[in-house]
Amino acid sequence: MAASYPKAIVHFDGDAFFASVLQMMDHTLRGKPVITGGERGSATSLSYEAKALGLHRGMPMQEIRRIAPEAIIVPSDYTAYSIYARRMYAIVREFTPKVEEYSIDECFADITGLEDAFGMTYAEIVLCIKQKLEQSLGVTFGVGLASSKTLAKVASKYHKPAGLTLIPTERIEEILGQTAIYDVWGLGGVGGTKLNSLGVPTALDFIRKDDGWLKDNGFVKPQRDTWLELKGYYINPVRVGKHGEIGSVMKTRTFSPPSMERSFIFSQLSKNVEAACVKLRRAGLKARALSFYLKTQEFTYHAVQMDLPVALSTASEMLECIEKRFDEVYATEILYRATGVTLRALVTDSALTPDLFGEFEKRVQKNGSFDALDRLNKKYGNSTVFLASSLQALRAPELPRARKRRKGFLRQDLEHKKSLDIPFLGIAR
Ligand SMILES: [Mg+2]
Repeated sequence: MAASYPKAIVHFDGDAFFASVLQMMDHTLRGKPVITGGERGSATSLSYEAKALGLHRGMPMQEIRRIAPEAIIVPSDYTAYSIYARRMYAIVREFTPKVEEYSIDECFADITGLEDAFGMTYAEIVLCIKQKLEQSLGVTFGVGLASSKTLAKVASKYHKPAGLTLIPTERIEEILGQTAIYDVWGLGGVGGTKLNSLGVPTALDFIRKDDGWLKDNGFVKPQRDTWLELKGYYINPVRVGKHGEIGSVMKTRTFSPPSMERSFIFSQLSKNVEAACVKLRRAGLKARALSFYLKTQEFTYHAVQMDLPVALSTASEMLECIEKRFDEVYATEILYRATGVTLRALVTDSALTPDLFGEFEKRVQKNGSFDALDRLNKKYGNSTVFLASSLQALRAPELPRARKRRKGFLRQDLEHKKSLDIPFLGIAR
C-alpha cells in the first residue's frame, strides 16, 4: 500500500549547525572537536567530534578545557551562520515556493501535490532536497516528512545525525510510541511536565486521550493544536515568506520645536523603539530586521534599513545596533521634526531555537526584567519606567496636533502621574 500523506510537510534541521558551518569555512577545523561560543563563558554548539568527548551544550568553557584540552574553542560568527541559512532556504525554494524560514538552521516546506510535477514520490523528492543541501553546504541535515509541522519535527530528530524519517499516517502510532512527551515541539516546558505528571509520558499516550480529557485537564490552545497535529491533522500552517514574516510594528513621533541636537533626536528615536518593543513583547514576537528614519523640517526623510544579528524584542539591544548607524541619517546643522522606527521580519518567540542563539540565556534574564517593566507600565501608566536614553524625549512636549490624537502621552499627564522615574540602566547615552 502506498504511504499516505493528507499533506506533505517537510522539516529540515541542520546538524550541529554552528560548529559545522565553521568547520566548512575553515578546513583546519574539520574532523576536530570544535566548540562555538568562545566569546561567552559556555558552549553554544558542538561538532560531533566534540560531542563524542562527552561535552555538551551550555557547558562552561573552563570545564571543557579541563575535560578535553584538545577541544578547539572558537568564537561565534553569526554572519557566517546567516549566510549558510540563506543558502539553505534558497536550495529548498528551488523545489517549492512554500518555504517557511523557521530559524537560523531550520525550515519547513510544503510539497503537497508535487509528485506528478517531479515524477517522483514524496520520499524521493525529500531525499533529493536533502542530498542537494548536504552537497552544497557541507552540513548534514535531519529531515522529516509527515502531514503536519509537529509530526515533521518529530520525524527530523528521530534519527541523529543526518537522518531521514518518514511518518505517513500508517506509522504515526509506531513513531509516537517512542517519542517522549518532552521531545514534542511546544511541550518541552510546563505543558510537557503537566502531561507527564498526569501519566502521559509519550506522544502516543497523548494522542490516545480524547477531547473531553483535554478539556477536563485544562488543555486548550496551543496544546490542543499540538494534539491534533500529532494525530496527523494539518493545523499550524507553513508560513510562507521571508523569515516566516508575520507583519511589522511601527512607531513614529513628531516633536516641536524642531531640533538639531543629536542626543535629543536619538532619545526621540529611542522612545519610539521602546514603545514598539512593548507592543512586540505583548504579541509574543521578536524582530529580525528594522528600519529607522529621521524627518527634517523640510519634510525629507532619511532612512536606514538593517538586519539584526539575532531576533530581538528588547529596546536596549536594538538601540545598540541603531546607534552604530545613526550618523548615516543624522547630520549636524539640519533641523529635524520627527523620528520613526519599523520593526520587521517578525517571528514568534517559539520560532527561535533557544540553544542555537548564543546570547539566549543572557536575553532570557533581560527579558525577565522587561516583562516586569511592561507590568509596571501597565499598572501605573505608560512611561512610568523607561530607558535612560528615552528620558529627554519623554520630557519634551509634543505638537498640539499629535497631542490630541494620543492623549496617553500628554506631558501634563506625565507630571501628574505617579512616576517611579527609574531609568533602566541597560543603556545610558
Ligand atoms: Mg539543528
